[in-house]
Amino acid sequence: MSYPAEVVAAIASLRGEVCALHAELVRYELVVWTAGNVSARVPGADLMIIKPSGIDYDALTPETMVVTDLYGTPVDGGWGNPELSPSSDTAAHAYVYRHMPEVGGVVHTHSSYATAWAVRGEAIPCVLTMMGDEFGGEIPVGPFALIGDDSIGRGIVETLSGSRSPAVLMQNHGPFTIGTTARAAVKAAVLCEEVARTVHLSRELGSMIPIHGAHIDSLHDRYQNVYGQ
Ligand SMILES: [Zn+2]
Repeated sequence: MSYPAEVVAAIASLRGEVCALHAELVRYELVVWTAGNVSARVPGADLMIIKPSGIDYDALTPETMVVTDLYGTPVDGGWGNPELSPSSDTAAHAYVYRHMPEVGGVVHTHSSYATAWAVRGEAIPCVLTMMGDEFGGEIPVGPFALIGDDSIGRGIVETLSGSRSPAVLMQNHGPFTIGTTARAAVKAAVLCEEVARTVHLSRELGSMIPIHGAHIDSLHDRYQNVYGQ
């Protein structure tokens, strides 16, 4: 298949960006082995870019990033990596892009503290001002879902559609995060793990003081609209 020059240019630039963002997952210790993945929507085309399956983080290059359609099927546009398969989580990312047009990036990890909350099926309560800023409330739990069909993607979309949070803790599995860009989704994944850890530590020490809903609204509004996020 051939694509317009601006789409080809966007793909080239996004493959570099998505590759570099995977290094952030390693840097912030959100992933081990080959688990975890970042994807980005290609503007102006029904395409996305995602990590290849089963490749070590150290071996990722822009050229190894796989281009697929929004059903997760690899698209051969002469990108030079026909032997690579997209991440096994591609169907979930693709489902999000098909159903949430405002989303430009998706991230999935099994980061320890966030996943520990997911294992207990417990939402992370909004008890930090930075949670008000970034998540606009609690970080919700999504349903238990098995890999292999659209159930993970559906669980992500159904949970996040009714929430201001860009992060969902899929029960017994781990966090998925979204953003208008892949970088924003990575930021949400990093902050999700940070708040999961801090709130866990706080609760170990005693009872937590909730933040009033009106204060959460004003934190979120200021951070998202005034502060320029
Ligand atoms: Zn997973």
